[in-house]
Amino acid sequence: MRLGDVTGPFLLLLLGVAAVLAALGLGAGLGWGWIGYVFGPSLGAAAMLVILCAAVATGLLIRNRLFRGIPWLPVCGNGCCRGGWLAALGDYKPVWNEDGTVRGFRCRCGITYQKVGRRFVELAPDGSFRPYLVWDGLKGWLPDRDLRP
Ligand SMILES: [Zn+2]
Repeated sequence: MRLGDVTGPFLLLLLGVAAVLAALGLGAGLGWGWIGYVFGPSLGAAAMLVILCAAVATGLLIRNRLFRGIPWLPVCGNGCCRGGWLAALGDYKPVWNEDGTVRGFRCRCGITYQKVGRRFVELAPDGSFRPYLVWDGLKGWLPDRDLRP
């Protein structure tokens, strides 16, 4: 499933909410005269912003729940570092490739991990993987005994 499959319904929902807010703003303008015209649209815009943030957070939460894991960067092998909520890095720092893509995430102990689909694998200095954890939508993070990316 691609990201677009998840965000599509949210965009439709946002359009619906925007239409309702526009109607409410118009109603406020008719009901309260010039005060409604001045404050209605700005209140609508502020509400839109709040709803947009909530929708993005909800979308990330659903995606993490189904495909990426919660937290999306789980506890490290030493049990001392963990990722933040949603897309926050928490104790991890991104490790970059020379071409600017993300190579992996290094925890405070200095171990580098990589997200491979539902799996969270340890990345050895020679570039090889070592299975560590795998995300199960029902059971959470489980020890990974098998690496089939
Ligand atoms: Zn660590």
